[in-house]
Amino acid sequence: MRANDREYQQLDAVVVGAGFAGIYALYRFRSLGLKTRAFEAGSGVGGTWFWNRYPGARCDVESMEYSYQFSEELQQEWQWSERYAPQAEILRYLEHVAERFDLRRDIQLDTRVDSAIYDEAGTRWKIGCSDGSRWSARFFVMATGCLSAVNMPEFAGRESFQGKIYHTARWPHEGVTFHGQRVGVIGTGSSGVQSIPLIAAEAEHLYVFQRTPTWSIPAHNRSLDPDEVRRIKAIYPELRAQSALQPFGFNTRSAETTAMDVDDQERLREYETRWERGGLGFLGGYSDLLLSRDANDTAAEFVGGKIRAIIRDPALAAKLTPRTAVGCKRLCVDTNYYDTFNRDNVTLVDVTAEPIEGIAPKGLRTGGKEYELDAIVFATGFDAMTGALLGVDIRGRDGVELREKWAAGPRTYLGLSTAGFPNFFFVTGPGSPSVLTNMVPSIEQHVNWISACISNLFESGHGSIEPTPEAEDAWVDLVNEIGGMTIYPTCNSWYLGSNVPGKPRVFMPYLGFPDYVVRANAIAAAGYEGFRLGG
Ligand code: FAD
Ligand code: NAP
Repeated sequence: MRANDREYQQLDAVVVGAGFAGIYALYRFRSLGLKTRAFEAGSGVGGTWFWNRYPGARCDVESMEYSYQFSEELQQEWQWSERYAPQAEILRYLEHVAERFDLRRDIQLDTRVDSAIYDEAGTRWKIGCSDGSRWSARFFVMATGCLSAVNMPEFAGRESFQGKIYHTARWPHEGVTFHGQRVGVIGTGSSGVQSIPLIAAEAEHLYVFQRTPTWSIPAHNRSLDPDEVRRIKAIYPELRAQSALQPFGFNTRSAETTAMDVDDQERLREYETRWERGGLGFLGGYSDLLLSRDANDTAAEFVGGKIRAIIRDPALAAKLTPRTAVGCKRLCVDTNYYDTFNRDNVTLVDVTAEPIEGIAPKGLRTGGKEYELDAIVFATGFDAMTGALLGVDIRGRDGVELREKWAAGPRTYLGLSTAGFPNFFFVTGPGSPSVLTNMVPSIEQHVNWISACISNLFESGHGSIEPTPEAEDAWVDLVNEIGGMTIYPTCNSWYLGSNVPGKPRVFMPYLGFPDYVVRANAIAAAGYEGFRLGG
């Protein structure tokens, strides 16, 4: 041990984050015999499900699939109550997993990792935390989430507001009551879509400040039928394996037919069936819905018709109907979202036409008008995919900063590693399918891959692994090439970073879970092709 190493506590692996990814990474690394510690900024485990406690927060991938599969006992034991479990239940589940597998003792809460500097001579990462502690580890793994760094737009005058300000992803644990209040919600993505109907039911008046209208499919949420659960549990592993072959990594009953292969009547029948079934599976209706604008227009026409049928005032319906392709921004899943705008106590304020000018002591100003409010809810989302990674001062070989390296957009190999940063992995990073999939199996796949990679290093006697710049360039090109074949670049979305002012406009996720898994496995089987193994 060198002299200045003494101030560092020694570990084999540091994991940052204790959501689905961090919890599972800790479990797997421990089973490899690695002395591992996870650091979590929050005061509890759960990640997304610890922070997002706004009214109506729940998953929109069905719970029987939006859960771990690494332990057959766990998936047999756990009972989900609803088709789409509410936030509190998912949080209880993650707390249970941490307890059941005795992981708590290696999770340090209320601790932010601020810096991670690679010490080339010692092939170790030197990690600095908000509590002043210093750690030295051979492997450094960011399990910090794609949707954890909050996007809080800087509206002038915010601090002058005399009412309360909330962000959906930093919701007070004690809950919030809006009875008798005039409330403004900014944002109509998934968080807005879930919370708006419940806030409207409670508030005296709700103003929804909408910059871009959103496509949403009904959830048709319901209690889970015990017989249905029994049937699923009887063949759980087979069902999981089938889902892994679906484009988004869960059962969307994805068709191979294209929308243009069928006549109008058949297409209408298919859309109607999927609308009635509810949920994200709507996009599985035809194989070209995300590839061809013409195909997508048929889906847009169908959902647009539903919006017009639900909203009584045609001018209001027009304002609520997106012009973007369906699924170009993340598709939403709702309970009574559009219908909420028929209520007398709800006003839609179109801030595309009247941009938000600022916040005044008594409300919000837009289009030269002031809306008096008692509370403002920011449902304005996240600095997605890169925000949490770049929130830490990470420096690789020769002191190169990750922030500098990614200044024009993230560069990764497989969405889990980056050249010049040995023994550094991130779970569901940019360049991985992550946010275009059911994220729990994606997380498990990533963590399994990283664990196998670390085992391989031990077996082969290598000290380090990092991608070559050539492999990384080819991967970035592939992600862009696939993205370019889709409808995703045709609108502004957080997939492209275009929701955050100044962020480079780059399509970040890899489309196609099964294809990704095949490639990742082939790379490992070929002796970690595209990676450089150090001595
Ligand atoms: P997270 O759960 O985000 O956990 C990351 C943790 O890292 C956080 O707790 C954070 O505090 C911590 N952290 C970050 N930086 C640091 C640091 N520097 N130091 C210490 N700790 C740090 N996905 C789906 O597939 N289906 C769904 O239905 C679905 N619903 C969602 C609903 C909401 C409201 C949101 C916001 C997201 C949803 N997602 C859904 C995406 C969801 O984020 C993932 O499914 C999953 O929970 C991510 O787990 P994770 O562990 O990767 O990240
Ligand atoms: P989001 O999808 O990014 O939506 C943010 C909303 O805020 C958008 O309507 C955006 O408008 C608006 N906005 C942002 N900045 C603004 C500004 N300066 N002025 C006016 N409006 C502004 O964020 P989210 O709703 O939190 O969802 C993020 C992701 O988390 C989802 O896509 C999903 O993956 C996940 N999630 C899932 C669920 C679920 O149902 N299970 C629930 C919540 C979140 P523009 O569109 O014009 O940018």
